Amino acid sequence: MRRGRRRPVRYASRMTILLASDFDAGDRDRWLALLRAALPGEHLVHERTGTDDGAIDVAIVANPPPGALAGLSGLRLVQSLWAGVDRLLADPTVPADVPLARMVDPAMNTAMAETALWAVLHLHRDFVDYAGDQRAGRWRPRPQRRADDVAVTVLGLGEMGCTVARRLADNGYRVTGWSRRPAAPVPGVATRAGEAALPAALAEADVVVNLLPLTAQTRGLFDARRLAQLRRGAALVNLARGAHVVDADLLEALDRGQVRHAVLDVFHAEPLPPAHAYWSHPRVTMLPHVAAQTDPRSAAAVAADNVRALRAGQPLRHRVDRARGY
Ligand code: NAP
Repeated sequence: MRRGRRRPVRYASRMTILLASDFDAGDRDRWLALLRAALPGEHLVHERTGTDDGAIDVAIVANPPPGALAGLSGLRLVQSLWAGVDRLLADPTVPADVPLARMVDPAMNTAMAETALWAVLHLHRDFVDYAGDQRAGRWRPRPQRRADDVAVTVLGLGEMGCTVARRLADNGYRVTGWSRRPAAPVPGVATRAGEAALPAALAEADVVVNLLPLTAQTRGLFDARRLAQLRRGAALVNLARGAHVVDADLLEALDRGQVRHAVLDVFHAEPLPPAHAYWSHPRVTMLPHVAAQTDPRSAAAVAADNVRALRAGQPLRHRVDRARGY
């Protein structure tokens, strides 16, 4: 058999797709309807009965409760409806020998680019400060900067990071992208790679946009040491995962003015606990993990394509490299 190509499988009985999620009933039914429309002829369930567990060969998952896939001996594909798979990789009951594919959907990349542009624009044009001025009843015009006065470093040049970097460059910002391995050229974007290049990529930025996956290497990346490598008064936009940031270190850097402002979409615990200092910090702008939501209309089609690829023995798309962690 050629590498990367799977032999079509003959199915003895009707195979079943399990949708395992933490959706409420309304969202679950919407997803089931879209998936059924995208996969006519497939048998989709949202609960295990125990008796037909052996027939489940595909799990389509969105934050499945821990243990939801345990003991499914016939599983041949776990397809995530979310782009980030750190929670799935941390769940020891998700079978490690079954291919895991994540959601890659151009509609999500576009949504992420919109959020990043909104954040960078608000920082560049001081809108974050004007919002505070309004709350304080203060009339205080500031000098206006041009987009090409503003250097933005995008950490992670994957699906999201590339789209974001391009969108920011198209809007006139001076953009640098940083990745693990040297990246393919991105029009209008300077690229750097590897850990040794990170201090310079941070030091040259007015705004750092984080779009890294959460892995053993990137967890806690924004600690006191890294935040000290930022140019004094630079801003941080975290659209990736809350655990990339050491909250106490960021709060301290904000209070000292080392970090001018943080735009945070993601947090260690979500929803963010009511007592957390971010809620009321004047230098923090928060979003409730909405930078790029999965759009069921397009994502159901992406998931269905991979199910069809599995059935046809074709290579699966967007497979996660478990050793790499993304
Ligand atoms: P991706 O396609 O897997 O891209 C990851 C990028 O990060 C790649 O360029 C990779 O480098 C780079 N990278 C990984 N580890 C690195 C390291 N140790 N040092 C330097 N670079 C490293 O990921 P994506 O789909 O763009 O997702 C990016 C992030 O967005 C994830 O954290 C995801 O969970 C998050 N996300 C957030 C939301 C939201 O609403 N807030 C929505 C969707 C996704 P190589 O190219 O060299 O491998």
